[in-house]
Amino acid sequence: MGRTVDLLGDDDIALLKESSLLVGRTLAEVARRIAPGITTGELDRMAEEFIRDNGAVPGFKGLYGCPSTLLISVNDQVVHGLPGDRPLRDGDVASVDCGVLMNGLYGDSAYTFMVGEVAAPVKQLLRVTQECLALGIEQAVENNRTGDIGHAIQQHAEKHGFGVVRELVGHGVGRKLHEPPEVPNYGRRGHGAKLRTGMVLAIEPMINIGTKEVKQLGDGWTIVTRDGRPSAHFEHNVAVRAGQAEVLSTFSYIEDVLKAKGEWYD
Ligand code: MG
Ligand code: MG
Repeated sequence: MGRTVDLLGDDDIALLKESSLLVGRTLAEVARRIAPGITTGELDRMAEEFIRDNGAVPGFKGLYGCPSTLLISVNDQVVHGLPGDRPLRDGDVASVDCGVLMNGLYGDSAYTFMVGEVAAPVKQLLRVTQECLALGIEQAVENNRTGDIGHAIQQHAEKHGFGVVRELVGHGVGRKLHEPPEVPNYGRRGHGAKLRTGMVLAIEPMINIGTKEVKQLGDGWTIVTRDGRPSAHFEHNVAVRAGQAEVLSTFSYIEDVLKAKGEWYD
């Protein structure tokens, strides 16, 4: 990407955090409702209403022609699944990606939910993908490079025999949903764009239980694994800082709901 990085000051980062937190609260509403039988379209309508009721607008809808507030990717769908009349079923996993635009700044976060009772190897995929996200965030410090983030994510995923998607990557986030730099989930230490205070990154490992290879469906949106096996996706927004990244988004609202539903496994 040729665009220059739009570094944000602390006031803008504080506003971006508000957007990110609203995404977290929206995903918690999804957590409340998600269950076997609900359709992805119902979750999408609920999320749009929640975001608008909170004085913000959906971040994805209308961008690049995106028709929906949420992108919901079930089982072998990696990302960019379009909500519709598909009912979720017991044993599914559903990555729910949500963006919000408020005060001119975007928040962008994703969480992969388990629907009912999920097979043990798929639970393990979800756990490892969240660990990948945490390890990537640890590397999002001033003077590191994007390759340090990607390397940490790739190492951990491949250690477990999982495939790291190459075609889709994390990104800067700010006044636009997608800002430079690109943040791949693979890479070499010491390579890639240098990280500077004022950058806010959307770090979003997309990890497949099997092959890393993906393809796009005929709808022009949905990305699926080539082997038809499950994929997981978790995303946080983090401000690059000296010494330690500041995580702006949160899964804590989601986790509170899942704990109350008795669907939390640590
Ligand atoms: Mg996202
Ligand atoms: Mg993103």
